[in-house]
Amino acid sequence: MRTPLIAGNWKMNMTVSEAGAFADELLKNTLNESVEAAICAPFIDLPVLIEKLKETNIKIGAQNVYYEQSGAFTGEISAPMLKDLGAHYVIAGHSERRELFGESDSDVNKKAHAVIEAGMVPIICVGETEEERDSGRHTAKVAGQVKAALEGIAAEAAGELVIAYEPIWAIGTGKSATSDDANAMCTSIRTEVEKLYDKGIADSVRILYGGSVKPATIEDLMSKSDVDGALVGGASLKTDDYTALVSGA
Ligand code: PGA
Repeated sequence: MRTPLIAGNWKMNMTVSEAGAFADELLKNTLNESVEAAICAPFIDLPVLIEKLKETNIKIGAQNVYYEQSGAFTGEISAPMLKDLGAHYVIAGHSERRELFGESDSDVNKKAHAVIEAGMVPIICVGETEEERDSGRHTAKVAGQVKAALEGIAAEAAGELVIAYEPIWAIGTGKSATSDDANAMCTSIRTEVEKLYDKGIADSVRILYGGSVKPATIEDLMSKSDVDGALVGGASLKTDDYTALVSGA
């Protein structure tokens, strides 16, 4: 009942020319239409991707946003700006933003609100450090992040949300969580959503796993009951890998 979602997260990669070339290459491949495909790209790459991929079902997303609507916030990009451009998704609270740029749970919550108010869908990222997992605090940490991110978000919007479980120790390390561990965390996130809302909403929220996902591992991951897709960094940068991920999901 939940449509699988493969979302690429390009991070700080791809110039505008490279993004254009990626889109041209991707247009030569046939993507599995029963899976929703998305690419979350640097702000400057969004126009070329939106233009070149407009005849496809691939949805384009941003990797960040500022939560104010407009005004004296030098260097920032607002949700209405992204909506006007044609963005569908916006990643909120990626662990790199939390760790390197000091984003707090409260910032992530404000960003999620701003994205929803502008008519887009946030991909809210949560996940524990290696130390938190080793000391058995991973489930509580992630539940707390989910609760904080969803604070004040209305039930109608909550059902449409995407949450990405990304253990920090698995991101860009080649050391993916096992599919069973990923599923266990996705299940506990769904249980947390049910506690905050109800079973109907928990059943409709899509929960992705992220962290060293590769074409070779996607099928196993997708066979798990609570994993609805993947947020993919490194392996989303090559058109053939990206196409294989969408096929495997
Ligand atoms: P990775 O990144 O697939 O390169 O591990 C995932 C992410 O950070 O979203």
